[in-house]
Order: sequence, then structure tokens, then C-alpha cells
Amino acid sequence: MTNTNLDENPLLEPWTGPFEAPPFDRIEPGHFRPAFDAALKDARREVDAIAANPAPPTFANTIEALERSGRSLDRVGGVFFNLTGAATNDELQAIEREIAPVLARHRNDIYLNEALFKRIDALKAEEDGLGLSAEQARVLERYHLNFTRAGAGAQPDAKARLAAIGERLATLAAEFGQNVLADEKAWLMLLDEEDLEGLPDFYRASAARIASERGHPERFAVTLSRSSIEPFLQFSARRDLREAAFRAWEARGENGGATDNRAIAAEMVRLRAERARLLGYESYAHYRLADTMAKTPGAALDLLESVWAPGVSSALKEQEALQAIIAGEGGNFKVAPWDWRYLAEKRRKAEFDFDEGELKPYLQLDRMIEAAFYAASRLFGLGFEERFDLKLYDPDVRAWAVSRRDGSPIALFIGDYFARPSKRSGAWMSNFRAQQKLDGLQLPIVVNVMNFAKGAEGEASLLSLADARTLFHEFGHALHGMLSDVTYPLISGTRVAGDFVEFPSQLYEQWIKEPEMLRRFALHYKTGEPMPEALIAKLTSARRFNQGWATVEYTASALVDLKLHLDPSPADVDVVAFERQELARIGTPDAIAMRHRAPHFQHIFSGGYSAAYYSYLWSEVLDADGFEAFEEAGDIFDAEVAHRLHDFVYAAGGSRDYDAAYRGFRGRSPSPAALFRKRGFEAGRE
Ligand SMILES: [Zn+2]
Repeated sequence: MTNTNLDENPLLEPWTGPFEAPPFDRIEPGHFRPAFDAALKDARREVDAIAANPAPPTFANTIEALERSGRSLDRVGGVFFNLTGAATNDELQAIEREIAPVLARHRNDIYLNEALFKRIDALKAEEDGLGLSAEQARVLERYHLNFTRAGAGAQPDAKARLAAIGERLATLAAEFGQNVLADEKAWLMLLDEEDLEGLPDFYRASAARIASERGHPERFAVTLSRSSIEPFLQFSARRDLREAAFRAWEARGENGGATDNRAIAAEMVRLRAERARLLGYESYAHYRLADTMAKTPGAALDLLESVWAPGVSSALKEQEALQAIIAGEGGNFKVAPWDWRYLAEKRRKAEFDFDEGELKPYLQLDRMIEAAFYAASRLFGLGFEERFDLKLYDPDVRAWAVSRRDGSPIALFIGDYFARPSKRSGAWMSNFRAQQKLDGLQLPIVVNVMNFAKGAEGEASLLSLADARTLFHEFGHALHGMLSDVTYPLISGTRVAGDFVEFPSQLYEQWIKEPEMLRRFALHYKTGEPMPEALIAKLTSARRFNQGWATVEYTASALVDLKLHLDPSPADVDVVAFERQELARIGTPDAIAMRHRAPHFQHIFSGGYSAAYYSYLWSEVLDADGFEAFEEAGDIFDAEVAHRLHDFVYAAGGSRDYDAAYRGFRGRSPSPAALFRKRGFEAGRE
């Protein structure tokens, strides 16, 4: 950038605006590299001083000092990685590829630092005499574990290899994500009026908007964003177009050429296995799961397999019903993956007398945001005030000041709801700054990023039911970050085990399905009328509809992920062949595709869910069982249950053992029976 004045780098100055939020209007791509370099230098100096301290180790001069180190790096990284996910460009992508191994090296320099580990190890050995609070003991334990798991106790040549592996994996993960985004950006299906058969008005309107934004006025466009392609597959009566779109969606990361992810995925699987071996674990999955609630791959597999058989058997029954629809219409083809959503929609119409198209006019984005806030006010006494004075990174991004009932501020919440080509697909929650109070209270800045389709100009943006649930899901994560009430950054908010972190988010999804919430917030975008009672009743009775399909598409991905990482020495794994064999071995119905195929499985190759995609199901045991606590109390906002949920879960971060946290909330351990009920399977059948 020619106009970047590096002497005045807003990333390195104190942020003095409201909530000390990043001054996005002044930040340019050219600021990042120098800011990273300066912040890394500071962080290195801070850590070196702790390691070289001649005084004997104490909790304060070692653990607390580590907790205070690297703040400026966190700040720069917080802005950078949020932008590379939600509003990236060529310049940011180039910096991302360049900085990923540098940051991995920095991490290695800390976690493989012998002198530092000796201090932590000494503290751990004399822990009982240190007079630590419960939270401090937990933080010390986590530090010791994190260092050990990174290889702090390993031999020097093993350490060197671990460091090299860490850097390489960071580079590969960045490339993997960028390749998926490139494939998504490169594909656009343009349609004309005569191609729109079956598509409801709301879809036509948003497809017209996408086309005109991409320079094709008077036409309609489908993209590979979930919010565009899923409803297309659900409603388009044109089987040929559905197939073309589905095949492009499925082929992301597997198109040959510069953006093909197969070799990257194979190398990552190989390096992860090598890392695990160097650290003394049987496989990467064993290594990864040792620090989770599940603890072993066996426990995760047991859970996945317990839903697999009933899931497949329900799915096959569903498939028969879909096949009957085809026959009834005189068709003579077998249900294919690009038919399932479309036919399921017809079946729902026939069996429950409603379709998504009927629902959608009642699910306005703005009302659903209000609904998510309302539930938080009823459960946790929070208030939300939109702020228009903050300069954010895109004109569509919004922000709210969040406070407790007594008016005390707790967080800044940023909502970034619409799909755009510069955003990676999916939905997520992230922090610009995490809560902590080591040196006085630091308020969190939390962001939710979605990929919803924007409504036509001047009209409300309408969500599908799945979108509304996603909004609640991510807002559940946001609450976990915003309600966090811990002293130490290491265990703040969502910094918990991967199979526990989906509990607060999935639990929150449950509220939007409740009639009480729909009556209040599902208002027709044109008339303002609430959703008719009859429609709410149909919706409730259709809750378990298509659950076989949903279970199969998710569980197939989770099983492939786990099995891929269970191989102790995958020499030259062909991830696509592996996937095919595994799906055949477990008897996956041909008509159902995996939710995420390996070449574009960002959760496991560029997110934090490697060998841990099972986490969603693990957490579902908790959320299904946990929500029943409210149902048992006879009130979905029961104050006493909400109070325990707040204290033991949403405010607790990683300060407690997760099983103990759940028992504190629920009064007992979770039972998987509720999960089976929720999915409409008979408990304990397989
Ligand atoms: Zn989640």
C-alpha cells in the first residue's frame, strides 16, 4: 500500500475509542506485518525475561507473568485473523501465508523453552505448598499440560522436529482455507427467469441481488455459500441444475490445479501422526483426545457408533418415502444426494402440511437477533444497546453494547451477518479481545460471523429455520465469551475443551424452537402478524423430520475425521480414497453425502476440530440432557436453573473440570437418553 504511514501504526497505538475497540477505519493491510514484527519482539522479550529470571519460580513471577505476556501480539492477531476470516483480500492472504509459520515458530519458542518449562515443572511439583486458589491451581495445571503436550519434556532432536512440524502445519492450514475460499469464489451459476422453477420469491429476490452485485443485472445467481446453495437444492425443481450445483459444491478443494487440497490434507494427516508419535501417543487422535471430555478415541467412537445404526435405519426409511414420491410423479431414477433436500421438502409438505417456504416470511433476521437478545435478557439479565458510533470493518457489520441488569457493561458484541465473497463459508464466533481481570476487568469484544443471504433492496433479510438455529448457536458461543467471569486469560470464555465448547452454543439453539419464542418473534415481514398457531404446531410436530439424514451426513464426516487421525503412520494417504472406503465400510447410503468432504473440511484442516468433529455430538448429549432441566422446571426461563447454568457453565470458562461443571449445573451427570429422544431414536437400541 502506498498510502500506509508506518510511523503511525494504529495497531500499535493505544485504542482509546468506545470499548477500546480496534480503529478499523484506520487499519490497512500494510500495517499488519510491521505490527506483527513489533508485537513479536515485545512478546519474545517478555517471555525471555521470565525464563531468565534469577529469582526462584513463583506463581506470580512465572504463571502470572506469562499470562501478562504477548498482549500486543494478541491484539494484532485478534484483528488480523478476524479480518482474514470475514473480510479478506489478496494482500491479507499473502500476509497470512507469510505470518502463519512465524507465529508457529514463536509458539514453539515458548512451549519448547527448557528454562521456562523447568520453572513451571518446579511449581507443579510444589503445588500444594503454594497456597493457590482453585482457579490458580487450574491455570497452573493447564500450563503444565500445555507445555508437556507441546513437547517441552522431549529430547532435543525430537523438539527440533516438533518445531518444524508445527511451522509446516500452520502454513498448510492457511493454504487449505484459502483454497476453499478460492474455489467458492470461482463458481457462480447464472440463471434466467425460465430456470427458476420451484424457487420461492424470497430466493429469487436474493439470487437477483447476488447476480447484480456480481455484475449481471436482470439475471439470478447461485453461489457455493451454504445460504445460497442449500435453499437452491431444497426448492429448485430443475434436477439438472441441482446436480450441477451439488457437484460443484462437493468438489471444492478437489478441482485440480493450484487450489486442490488433497495433497495438503494428506501431508497434514501425516505430520500430525508424526507429531503424536514423537510425543509418545499411539495416534494423533489419541493425542488430540487426551485433553478432552471424551479422553480417548474409543469413547468418541462409541458415541458416534451408538447413533450411526439408528441414524442409518431411519435414513433408509426416509429414502423409501422419497423414492415413493419419485414413483408417484412417474419418475424412474434413484434418489441422488442432489435430490434429497428437494424431495424431503415435498415429503414434509405431504406429511406435515408445511414447507420451509411458508416458514421463511416469519423468520426475519432482525427479529431473530432480537429473539437471541431477549432469551439472554430472560436467562441472564442482559441488556443490549446498538451502537452506531463505532467504525467497523464493513458497512453491513453492527455492534451492540451489552450490560447487566444493574447497567454495568460486560462486553461489546459485533454481528457480521451477510455472505460476501471476501468471507469464508460457515458461521463462527470469535474474540477481538477475551475477558479477564488479572489487572482490573478487561471487557471482551466478541464477534459472530454468519453467511446469510441478504434480502432484496429495502426488504427484510429472511432466514431459514436452520439459519435461525445457527444464529442462536453462534450467539450461545458469544454468551460464553461475554459472560466469562475469570481472572486468567488462559481459561477465559470459550477456551475450554473442544467437546465441551459446543455445549453452551447447542444448548442455546433450543430456545428458538420453543413456541413461546416463535409467537413473540416470528412475525411476518410484510404484515407483522405472528406465525399462526397451526404453523407453530406443525413445526413442533415435524421436529424429528429428516433426522436420519441429518444424523448420517454429520456422523459420516465425524467418523471419517476420527478414523483418518487414528492411523498411527499414514504414509501416503489418499484422503478421497480413504473417505470412499470408510463410507462403504460403515454402510453409508449412496443417496446421502457427507456434510463436509475431506478436501474442503475446514473444521479439521484449517479450524480447531482435527480428530474432534465428533465434539458436536458429544456436546449434544449435554445440551439435550441440559435443556430438559428447564422443561422439568416447567419454564424455559426458570430463574433457578438459569442461575446455575450461568455460574457453572457460561461464566466459568475453563476454571472447572467439565464433568464437575456439568454436574454443578444439572445436579447429576448427563444421560445420553435425551439425545436419542431429541433425534427420535429409541435409546440404547444399538
Ligand atoms: Zn459451535
